[in-house]
Amino acid sequence: MADDAAQAKVVVLGDTGVGKTCLVHRFIEGKFVPHGASTIGASFMVKKMNVGGMRLTMQIWDTAGQERFRSMAPMYYRGAEAAILVLDCTNADSYEKVRSWVEELKRNASGEIFLALACNKCDLVEERRVAQEEAEAYAKSIGAVCMETSAKSNKGIDELFGAVAKGLVQKK
Ligand code: GDP
Ligand code: MG
Repeated sequence: MADDAAQAKVVVLGDTGVGKTCLVHRFIEGKFVPHGASTIGASFMVKKMNVGGMRLTMQIWDTAGQERFRSMAPMYYRGAEAAILVLDCTNADSYEKVRSWVEELKRNASGEIFLALACNKCDLVEERRVAQEEAEAYAKSIGAVCMETSAKSNKGIDELFGAVAKGLVQKK
């Protein structure tokens, strides 16, 4: 049977080590894979969802470490309809760097992109360096939804991807 679900490409952006691969694994496989990064070879993973009665197939693109070079291949952005910007809330530098990922996204993506900011590793309360209010204010300034997430504890994962799915469906 043909699959008539709407398709959408989602790119995951952020510095190395912020937890992009763990977030994607948590969402797709429902578990925390602490050292998942090096085992990822594929360019994207697929998740089928049902959003308010509409079927949506999300193609979630994770990097295979290319973000180290602070610039991604154009094909990474091609056709992307949503971007998940990830920061590590224990690392202030990763928050500053989100700005340059937004710039890179603007340079490379075409059309309107749904944006979400994930403040990941929110389980590490003691080591927190990026205030939730600050991240929320920044997200608002770029028109992004903001979520506190932990790939480790599973906090905010369904909310994050659910918000992205909803944003995508509204565009269709
Ligand atoms: P990536 O380079 O952005 O893909 O980051 P990874 O997904 O490879 O994660 C980098 C490191 O952060 C790994 O050691 C993970 O175990 C750890 N990590 C990822 N997400 C979380 C989280 O939500 N909480 C905690 N405590 N550690 C995390
Ligand atoms: Mg990774």
